[in-house]
Amino acid sequence: MNLSWLTPADRLSALPPYVFARLDELKARAREQGLDLIDLGMGNPDGPTPQPVVESAIAALQDSANHGYPPFEGTASFRRAITAWYLRRYGVELDPDGEALPLLGSKEGLTHLAIAYINPGDLVLVPSPAYPAHFRGPLIAGGKIHSLILKPENDWLIDLAAIPDAIAERAKILYFNYPNNPTAATAPREFFEDIVAFARRHEILLVHDLCYAELAFDGYHPTSLLEIPGAKEIGVEFHTLSKTYNMAGWRVGFVVGNRHIIQGLRTLKTNLDYGIFAALQTAAETALQLPDVYLHEVQARYRTRRDFLIEGFSQLGWKIPKTRATMYLWAPCPPGVGSTDFALSVLQQTGVVVTPGNAFGAGGEGYMRISLIAECDRLQQALQRLHQAGIRYESAVMEPTDVTL
Ligand SMILES: *Cc1c(COP(=O)(O)O)cnc(C)c1O
Repeated sequence: MNLSWLTPADRLSALPPYVFARLDELKARAREQGLDLIDLGMGNPDGPTPQPVVESAIAALQDSANHGYPPFEGTASFRRAITAWYLRRYGVELDPDGEALPLLGSKEGLTHLAIAYINPGDLVLVPSPAYPAHFRGPLIAGGKIHSLILKPENDWLIDLAAIPDAIAERAKILYFNYPNNPTAATAPREFFEDIVAFARRHEILLVHDLCYAELAFDGYHPTSLLEIPGAKEIGVEFHTLSKTYNMAGWRVGFVVGNRHIIQGLRTLKTNLDYGIFAALQTAAETALQLPDVYLHEVQARYRTRRDFLIEGFSQLGWKIPKTRATMYLWAPCPPGVGSTDFALSVLQQTGVVVTPGNAFGAGGEGYMRISLIAECDRLQQALQRLHQAGIRYESAVMEPTDVTL
């Protein structure tokens, strides 16, 4: 039967395959074969949501005032909690009525921002590698992506000087993200000053994803875009509760910054959704008000795993620099081995799942991302299996594979 009448819109065929979905299929197949998978592939935090947040949600559930449609723009009380948190963390005042908007997770907002602002053919600057929503949103909107290739010799920072003037003049939006997923790179404050100056000079809407605002170690404090003078005139910043508070399933994030940009996103969303269940907005307020000791515990947990894995991988011949933030390690695949082949081979030989770097764009080719989402005893098992399979940085034993991602 001819199924052409069921063909989805062109905007979907513009998308490259979602590698995570493919990896999921392969993982399911490996599980069927009885493999005990150690999944360090996803960015899904493994801990429970803090108990005070859960209790606050339970109490809010009992209040029937929360059972109807929430306000489009989020509850006033959650928006005030967002701006109070922002003031406390970064010393910058924001207007809860217009400069902060709750989102159904930051991925939703990052993607919808593209749909609200990009016309077909508009040029969008996106690093490669990048978090997939940063290029998939613009692609769905019909935008043209100009990739900014990140390189180890630049510490995975965007090389602004390498962007041709003609490209910068045409660009409508620049997406960026430090501390970075997937490279775990951090950017110094001067970089933020440079990128704000660049965006102002070329009149580019600047979108910063500060997903890892709190997951930083060894005294490092990530910079927020809006700390930079002038940033609010041209930019917005996305935040999420998913990672810091182990709330990935709750779908709560927010955007702060330029009120005109936020208004455009809000106008689109008014036509699409009603925002977050009000009871969950109450719980999210509780999360943002947790004492810092909670953050210190989370940070210590990831730092311990980071140190454990970096040491373990060094015994397998890998030199992985110490990261200062995020829940990832970013490591080269053995010389001459492609990311997909390497990740599949590791999965098939050991049941350990890592993400091939090219899942984040061509600029990630030759690397793998390892998520710090298991306890050290489990990480130890992963290392042992790599060791037993003879997988080392210099001399990975590669089995031919007929599976293609
Ligand atoms: C995990 C992640 C997100 C997604 O956050 P949600 O709020 O759960 O949608 C966004 N950006 C980056 C860089 C991430 O790693």
